[in-house]
Amino acid sequence: MTTLDLTTDVLVVGGGPAATWAALKAARAGADVVLADKGYCGTSGATASAGTGVWYVPPEPAAREAAMASREALGGHLADRRWMARVLDQTYESVNELADEARYPFPTGPDGRPLRNGLQGPEYMRRMRVRVRRAGVHVLDHSPVRELLADTSGAVAGATGYRRQAQQPYRVRAGAVVLATGGCAFLSGALGCNVNTGDGALFAAEAGAELSGMEFSNAYAIAPEHTSVTKTAFYTFATFFHEDGTVLEGAASQGGR
Ligand SMILES: Cc1cc2nc3c(=O)[nH]c(=O)nc-3n(C[C@H](O)[C@H](O)[C@H](O)COP(=O)(O)OP(=O)(O)OC[C@H]3O[C@@H](n4cnc5c(N)ncnc54)[C@H](O)[C@@H]3O)c2cc1C
Repeated sequence: MTTLDLTTDVLVVGGGPAATWAALKAARAGADVVLADKGYCGTSGATASAGTGVWYVPPEPAAREAAMASREALGGHLADRRWMARVLDQTYESVNELADEARYPFPTGPDGRPLRNGLQGPEYMRRMRVRVRRAGVHVLDHSPVRELLADTSGAVAGATGYRRQAQQPYRVRAGAVVLATGGCAFLSGALGCNVNTGDGALFAAEAGAELSGMEFSNAYAIAPEHTSVTKTAFYTFATFFHEDGTVLEGAASQGGR
């Protein structure tokens, strides 16, 4: 079968929250966008099948300070405050956009105010798929990217992949490529992580990128036997030990979500 050949301004590789937000923003800024997902965009990846807690903190200085201080302590004071501030700002803006524009049905608390610190993956990602398509993004479902293309100077210039359902190779020439293929967690067996085989990190490394902070990636969190969901919250009731066998005081309070 002949190769499907496309040319675009921006190629987004992936179909989870990172990819769909990137595609949406690029399309709204006037770019032609192709999004290629290994699975069906909106149902694929770690968020689509999960409940997700989000760091939604109103821009009140005391509340933001308390939120950052708490996360700093959880992360052993290794976090960068500039990034935390950026995440807080972006999360607040994006979650409000989901409520206002995408009519995400946030629940309401006893005081009548909406609770915006959590999203149900299926509801969230279904909306992101609709929004991306309405913004004019060309979505290639079930179309894993297999390698990046480079121009004669070595700069990344697109990618090649395979449309599994059409059984057709494809090639996208692009002015910019966004890698948003999630992490590398498939061996955890956690719901939705079957597609997370670290492809984007490999593509980036093959293209000469330097990866940073990989020593902090949490490869496989603890999962209770016979479950498919991992939970770092387990640590809240765990006991940690120093190398010499003495108990590490205070570590048990370092819970995650
Ligand atoms: C059990 C669990 C609980 C979690 N809880 C929370 C939480 O409470 N709060 C929170 O903020 N985060 C949470 N996370 C983390 C969160 O799910 C991820 O950080 C988030 O999904 C990452 O989004 P992403 O778009 O980068 O990747 P994903 O959502 O994993 O999406 C990856 C996408 O890339 C596609 N892809 C992969 N390879 C290719 C390829 N070669 N070509 C094309 N497409 C490809 C996949 O099909 C998929 O669509 C949790 C994760 C797990 C597993």
